[in-house]
Amino acid sequence: MFPIGHLSAGYLFAYFFLKCANVEDRKLWLGVGTFLGLLPDSDCLAYPFLAAYMGWDRAVRISHHAWITHTPLFYVLLGLLVVIYSKKLGCLVTGESLLHLLCDSVVPEDGIMWLFPLSYQKFSLCPSDLHGWAWISFYVHTYGFALELALLALALSIRWLDLYVHKHIKRDVRLLSEA
Ligand SMILES: [Zn+2]
Repeated sequence: MFPIGHLSAGYLFAYFFLKCANVEDRKLWLGVGTFLGLLPDSDCLAYPFLAAYMGWDRAVRISHHAWITHTPLFYVLLGLLVVIYSKKLGCLVTGESLLHLLCDSVVPEDGIMWLFPLSYQKFSLCPSDLHGWAWISFYVHTYGFALELALLALALSIRWLDLYVHKHIKRDVRLLSEA
């Protein structure tokens, strides 16, 4: 999945998570939650180093979905560590990351190793062995890309609605109560 889909899913998860969690700085948590939706893909920062070592052609053929940074176990353990510092942040790290892995399993990609370390098998709703530019040109014509656009539209609609409610309706209620 592209970053835009993960960020949109991250925003939606954070939005509903914060509906249940009692937080003071909602705007900050919403921003943090949105970017945590992209956390597992931070392992892509390794690609320039791989490319410097073996060239881009070979580097893009290596799937980061085969790395420990794209396994559920890694984010459950990371979340447990973060819980020591903050319970809410720990839950958000694990929840956002597991949703990221779920999205990577639903769209046409090589899949996620859900059973790691018991098995290295990758699970995907629509398995695809393409990588790099070949995958991008294939992917933009699949339901996966349409799903990303739908997530983006939903996230933007909820954001707009949230701002509208805060700006107009809550103001009107305050004015009515003051009258
Ligand atoms: Zn990913």
